[in-house]
Amino acid sequence: MQTDCIFCKLAAKEIPVQAIYEDEHVIAFPDINPAAPTHVLIIPKQHVANLLEVSPESPLMAQLMGVIPRIAAQLGLAEEGFRVVINTKEHAGQTVHHLHLHLLGGRIMTWPPG
Ligand code: IMP
Repeated sequence: MQTDCIFCKLAAKEIPVQAIYEDEHVIAFPDINPAAPTHVLIIPKQHVANLLEVSPESPLMAQLMGVIPRIAAQLGLAEEGFRVVINTKEHAGQTVHHLHLHLLGGRIMTWPPG
């Protein structure tokens, strides 16, 4: 755990969190500033700053991505679909430096992203 990391504090329940999904490795909760009718963040409980810290040998991304079908079904996104975004460092606009997947749904998305 990184003491100055807000997502570590949420994962450790030092800050109250409305968990939409949780297991040993992963927790998912609503984004505080939703960019779509449904906007959930899926994070590892372990502190990982961004995608650049993930190795091919690690099960981490499978653990994070693997829960998406279940959450999407739970939130009613499976039929019409959704978008998953991982912002990485400055050019992507990453503001919280603890790896997180944005799961966005409930409206039609445009492409390319801004
Ligand atoms: P990023 O821009 O990809 O780093 O996304 C960080 C996201 O975390 C933003 O969409 C914020 O609204 C969200 N966020 C920041 N603090 C909290 C919080 O305490 N609870 C839930 N979401 C948060």
